[in-house]
Amino acid sequence: MSLRRATFLQLIASSLTLLLLASPALAGTLVLEGPVEQGGLVHGKTDPGAKVTLDGRAVRVADDGGFIFGFGRDAPAEARLDVVFADGSSTHRDLKVAARQYDIQRINGLPTQQVTPDAATLERIKREQVEINAARGVDSSLPFFERAFVWPAVGPISGVYGSQRILNGEPRAPHMGLDIAAPRGSPVLAADAGTVTLAERDLFFTGGTVIIDHGYGLATTYQHMDRIDVTVGQHVAAGQPIGIVGATGRVTGPHLHLGLNWYEVRLDPALVMGPMPTAQH
Ligand SMILES: [Zn+2]
Repeated sequence: MSLRRATFLQLIASSLTLLLLASPALAGTLVLEGPVEQGGLVHGKTDPGAKVTLDGRAVRVADDGGFIFGFGRDAPAEARLDVVFADGSSTHRDLKVAARQYDIQRINGLPTQQVTPDAATLERIKREQVEINAARGVDSSLPFFERAFVWPAVGPISGVYGSQRILNGEPRAPHMGLDIAAPRGSPVLAADAGTVTLAERDLFFTGGTVIIDHGYGLATTYQHMDRIDVTVGQHVAAGQPIGIVGATGRVTGPHLHLGLNWYEVRLDPALVMGPMPTAQH
């Protein structure tokens, strides 16, 4: 390299340094990664000590500046992310949330009681939903929210996120997870490390159900299991067996229903999972 060229590069480098020092707007970093779309989970990185809000809602930020947030099935087209840095300066992003098209899924032959439950059963469903919501509402600082998930079961995908459901001809709530038609009795693995916040053997709709908190509002839900091998409060490792695939609750056949939440916001697990391994566990 010629001396002249080296000096020129040095000049550029020192001007850049000056520019960085001179501009308070550059003091704070904000990097977002992940699908800004309905059902999407977004990973963010900012400076330690920054405060982050999504449409005015406080977002938990890790000591290293990492954070996550997500968008529900019917999230509006626009969202605003605000960051206030430790020095008082701030920045924001106007996010365009991409809309998705959802399938219509018709399922027939379900017992009437499962489609139009009686009053006593509706009470039970309400009680169980309170319990499920509490488990998903857990706000911990577990550090397992930034990693890739392992597939909890392997098999054909028999139900996708967001589908509008017509059960025995009646419109019902959309399907908010991913159905993996793994063989009955095959192991269900924890998608990542975390703490078990719900382990119920017999919920009305979801049968044998486990919820695992991974931290920062991120939780995975496993439904219709025939057997559960974990208890509430237990720490599990990524890929640890937590029970077996079953056909409990409202199902037409054995499968694992995998759900993904950011607090109460239900996300699409398919958007965070890599390709499914071809080999069985
Ligand atoms: Zn399902």
